[in-house]
Amino acid sequence: MHQLTLAEIARGLADKKFSSEELTKVLLARIAQLDPQLNSFISLTEDLALQQAKAADARRANGESGALLGAPIAHKDLFCTQGIRTSCGSKMLDNFKAPYDATVVAKLAAAGAVTLGKTNMDEFAMGSANESSYYGPVKNPWNLEYVPGGSSGGSAAAVAARLLPAATGTDTGGSIRQPAALTNLTGLKPTYGRVSRWGMIAYASSLDQGGPLARTAEDCAILLQGMAGFDPQDSTSIDEPVPDYSAGLNGSLQGLRIGVPKEYFSAGLDPRIADLVMASVEELKKLGAVVKEISLPNMQHAIPAYYVIAPAEASSNLSRFDGVRFGYRCEDPKNLEDLYKRSRGEGFGPEVQRRIMVGAYALSAGYYDAYYLKAQKIRRLIKNDFMAAFDEVDIILGPTTPNPAWKLGAKNSDPVAAYLEDVYTITANLAGLPGLSMPAGFVDGLPVGVQLLAPYFQEGRLLNVAHQYQQNTDWHTRTPTGF
Ligand code: GLN
Repeated sequence: MHQLTLAEIARGLADKKFSSEELTKVLLARIAQLDPQLNSFISLTEDLALQQAKAADARRANGESGALLGAPIAHKDLFCTQGIRTSCGSKMLDNFKAPYDATVVAKLAAAGAVTLGKTNMDEFAMGSANESSYYGPVKNPWNLEYVPGGSSGGSAAAVAARLLPAATGTDTGGSIRQPAALTNLTGLKPTYGRVSRWGMIAYASSLDQGGPLARTAEDCAILLQGMAGFDPQDSTSIDEPVPDYSAGLNGSLQGLRIGVPKEYFSAGLDPRIADLVMASVEELKKLGAVVKEISLPNMQHAIPAYYVIAPAEASSNLSRFDGVRFGYRCEDPKNLEDLYKRSRGEGFGPEVQRRIMVGAYALSAGYYDAYYLKAQKIRRLIKNDFMAAFDEVDIILGPTTPNPAWKLGAKNSDPVAAYLEDVYTITANLAGLPGLSMPAGFVDGLPVGVQLLAPYFQEGRLLNVAHQYQQNTDWHTRTPTGF
C-alpha cells in the first residue's frame, strides 16, 4: 500500500478497496520501522492522524468525495500546527507549540488530508543539505551516506522512501526543487503569492513560497489544488482564480516553445547532468515541443544578490526571537542584555547566526546602498531577463542542480560551496516565478532533476509538461533500494 501515489489512493478510497484509517496505520507503522535510518520526521502526530483518518472515512461514507479526502501527508516543520510543536528545525523553537494552524495546514485539513507528522528541515530553512537542523541531518534514501538536499529535506526523504505519498515544503531559493531533484521526486514552487504564507514561519518574506513535494506531477497537481488560493490574512497573497490543475494535465505539447538558456551550461555543471538535460529536451521534442536557445545575461549575479537579500530579510524576521516572548530562553540571565545575547547565542545554530550577521551588516547605515540596494537592482534585471525570454518561449528548461547529492559533511567547512548549489533555482525566487523539478535520470546511482520555469501563474503549464514527460518516461517510478 505504501507504493500508492495520491491519485491511486484517491481511486482506492473511492472504490472502497481500503479505508483511510487502514492506510494511515500501514504508513505509521512503516515510518516507525524505517524512519530511524532517515531522520525525516521531527514530530509524529499519530493520534491526530488516526482521528483525521476516521473523520475522512466518515465523510466518504456520507457521500463526500475529493482527491485529498483521507490522503496521508506531512508538513514541513515550519507550517504552524495548532497545539503541535512547530520547531523550524531550531533549538530556538524546540518548545514552541503553535497557537493556530497555518492557512495551508487549515486548507488541507478541511479538504480531508491526514497529517502524519512534521518533517525535518534545515534550521529556519537555511541550507541546501538538511544538515543545519537542530534535530540532526536527514539521510538520502538513495544512499544513506548522502544528503537529501534542503531545506525541505525531511519531506523529500520521507516521500522518496515511500513513507508517505506527498508532503508540503517551502522554497526560498530552491528548497522544494533542489531536494526533489536529489531524491528523485517532483516538486513545485508556485508563483509568489499563489500559496498563503500565513502561519508559515518566515525566512525571507519576499522569496518564501510553500508548495508540494510528491513522486509525480499528477500528485503535485492534487496537493497544490489544496494549498493554493487567495488568503486575506496574507497581504502578499494574490487574488487570482485557481485553475483545475488535474484537469489541465493532458494538454498537448504540440508547438510548445522550450527555451534553453545558454548560461546554464557553464563550467560548474556536471557534464553528465548536462547530457541528461539534453535527453529530456529530446523526449519533449518527440511530444511536439520546439526548442530554442535563449539567454539570461544577468544570471551570474543571482547568487551574490540572493545571499544579500535573503540574509537581510532573515536578520529582520528573526529579531522576534529574543528569549522574551516565546521560544528558547537562557538559564539565569544577569540582565536584559544578557538574556537577549545568550538566548539568541544558544538558541540559534551557526548557519543562522552567520546569516543574521551578514544580513544586519548589509542593512546597516553606510553599507545599505552598496549591498542591499545594489542586490535589489540586480533582482530587477534578473526579472527583466525572464520577461524578455518569455516573449519568445513558453517554458524555460535546464538542470535543477549543478551536481547530484553529495556526501554528508562534504561541504560543511565551506558555506559558499553549498551556496553555489543554488545557482539554477534562486533566480525563480528573485523573480517570483513558478518552477518545477522532475526526475530525469541518474548519475552514479544518484537522481538528477530537470527544472522547468514558466511565466507568472502558469503552474498548470509546468504540471502539464511534467505529466506528459512522465507518461513517456519512467525515471519518476524508480524506487531506492531498501525502501
Ligand atoms: N539553499 C538556499 C538557502 O540556504 C535556499 C533555502 C530555501 O529555499 N529555503 O538560502
